[in-house]
Amino acid sequence: MPQHELQAVVEALHDRYRSLDEGNVATYIPELGKASPEDFGISLVATTGQVFETGDCDRTFTIQSISKPFTYGMALEEFGEAAVSRHVGVEPSGDAFNSIELQNGTNRPHNPMINAGAITVSALLHSRHRDDAFDRVLNQLSAAAGRRLSVDEGVFESERRTGHRNRAIAHLLLNFGLVHEQAERALDVYFRQCSILVTSRDLAMMGATLANMGRNPVTGEPVFDLASVRHMLAIMFTCGMYDYSGEWAYRVGVPAKSGVAGGVMAVVNRQLGIATYSPPLDSRGNSCRGIEVCVELATRFGLHAFDCSNVGSSFLQAVL
Ligand code: GLN
Repeated sequence: MPQHELQAVVEALHDRYRSLDEGNVATYIPELGKASPEDFGISLVATTGQVFETGDCDRTFTIQSISKPFTYGMALEEFGEAAVSRHVGVEPSGDAFNSIELQNGTNRPHNPMINAGAITVSALLHSRHRDDAFDRVLNQLSAAAGRRLSVDEGVFESERRTGHRNRAIAHLLLNFGLVHEQAERALDVYFRQCSILVTSRDLAMMGATLANMGRNPVTGEPVFDLASVRHMLAIMFTCGMYDYSGEWAYRVGVPAKSGVAGGVMAVVNRQLGIATYSPPLDSRGNSCRGIEVCVELATRFGLHAFDCSNVGSSFLQAVL
């Protein structure tokens, strides 16, 4: 059988960007510094369940900030939009992911994609579920991935030991009454959710679950409801790539989220989950190869939400 066009494209992209030698592996969480800068995987999962991938797509790495839209979706479903929005805003901050800054006037974190907002969301979940909060997060992310995920205890301990900046953020939030008294316990949920191990295939499947109206395209399991998916994707679109979010929206034009271990997950609504894994990061904490691959996929297939050819909305029809 001739090779599918998409398979040929992911292989060509992998070949082209394998030699891109920019960026640095994150070391501020000491355990992350052990990652190999050469690792490079690309996975696409269509909402039909078809998978196209190449490179190190079975290599596990920690999900880090890509957990944030998922816990945000969980909080929306548990507490409702009004209650969640009393704790965390929906405005891009233009600041770095770890900035220690709250919104003027309301003192809320700007949005749930930066650390301050994500810690607030984890604290909300912890305030209700206490010792069960993390297991619920793990179950939800596993359902989105369509397989049982696990935690890298080494990365968890490493961040827990050295995460002074996040600890400072949590205590600032406590000062403003945005997290409950057990801020340290909430931080443990946050550090642990960031330490969930995934592959690029898992992330593409999780993206495809969002693209597929919240239902995992392979297992058929409903994971998020429609309203939460809309909110999750909107926040990823405006805030998912931190202080690169504007340029990302301009160049790639699909909701996405990156993590400091080197993952990028992007969602083409109703069509496709895209994920890359490559640890070297640019100065904003986004994977250098990941950005290039997504820019090129979006350009080549017209995936941008505002592409005038509007291929993005009928991508599957065009290629499958
Ligand atoms: N666990 C990381 C941190 O809080 C997540 C950051 C990220 O992936 N951008 O610093």
